Amino acid sequence: MSVLIYIDHSDGQVKKSSMEALSYGVKIAEQIGAVAEGVLLGDVSTDLPSLGNFGIKKVYHIQNSLLQIFDAQSYTKVIAQVAQQTSAKIIIFSNNSAGKSLAPKVAVRMNAGYVSGAIALPETSNGFNVRKNVFSGKAFANVEVKTEIKVIALNVNAFSVSEGTGNAEVVSLNIDVEAPKVKVIGTNKTKGTVSLTEAETVVSAGRGLKGPENWKIIEDLASTLGAALACSRPVADAHWRPHNEHVGQTGIAIAPNLYIAIGISGAIQHLAGVNRSKVIVVINKDPEAPFFKAADYGIVGDAFEVVPKLTQAVKKV
Ligand code: FAD
Repeated sequence: MSVLIYIDHSDGQVKKSSMEALSYGVKIAEQIGAVAEGVLLGDVSTDLPSLGNFGIKKVYHIQNSLLQIFDAQSYTKVIAQVAQQTSAKIIIFSNNSAGKSLAPKVAVRMNAGYVSGAIALPETSNGFNVRKNVFSGKAFANVEVKTEIKVIALNVNAFSVSEGTGNAEVVSLNIDVEAPKVKVIGTNKTKGTVSLTEAETVVSAGRGLKGPENWKIIEDLASTLGAALACSRPVADAHWRPHNEHVGQTGIAIAPNLYIAIGISGAIQHLAGVNRSKVIVVINKDPEAPFFKAADYGIVGDAFEVVPKLTQAVKKV
């Protein structure tokens, strides 16, 4: 029996969220006495045997010029074929943007039960029960997966990466690859070095910053911390910041280790996208701002005074 983990990559590197999925899949394999294997589509600069450091025994590497650009439909068909050929019983994805798109499609093809947003190892002593986030992270649900084949999408930042030493065997399989039905004619990369959904630290600001011209102090803090930038919805709606920084119910949902919210009131729709953050720090001049109720640490003060001092203090560490 095998546990097959989909290995997502960008810019030639395996994503951190996939390392989490690999660590998670390996632990499940240990739990149920199965072998953990990975599947990677397209080209990467990562040394593939070194993925054995995460505990997988094999990497199925599917190379084909048609797989150079991510396409959910053709990728789904390839992953399902690999799962069939390797008799995988559990297929793991990260619940990142690729995983959200692929996991349900693969589950349909494999006639598998599907759990999205898993946050812990399954309980396998009596059935196969997975804990997942529901209602935008406001509650948990324990669900039992009853199908023979199971597809699980693990929430980003929900499971620690565990690395050891090992060498994975790199295996190529005979797989039919279909030409994508949609042709990508160009891509524009957004600015910023840290991906918002993968970031361990996120510095986010809201309408309290008064205008786009004041974002320099936010950018300085973010670059000092190596953090990704985010913002509240009105800030993106007013075009102070790009929409790909908008977090919340209608924006991107994130779960970094540290979320610093500056000049953001803490409306329920904002919290819906950030309340899975492990530690929340709020900086707001209004001591009654609702965000303080959700904060682990709060600073009541003017962002224009507090943030530069915080950046200086971090630089000294
Ligand atoms: P404000 O509510 O105006 O708050 C600004 C805060 O800055 C205040 O708390 C103020 O005390 C503080 N402040 C002011 N000056 C300073 C200063 N100098 N120093 C420090 N603090 C200062 N919002 C989202 O963010 N994401 C979503 O996905 C989202 N989805 C929505 C979906 C729906 C259907 C609806 C109806 C709303 C949604 N909203 C969303 C909007 C949400 O309800 C709030 O209006 C929004 O989050 C408020 O943004 P804000 O906190 O930046 O602004």
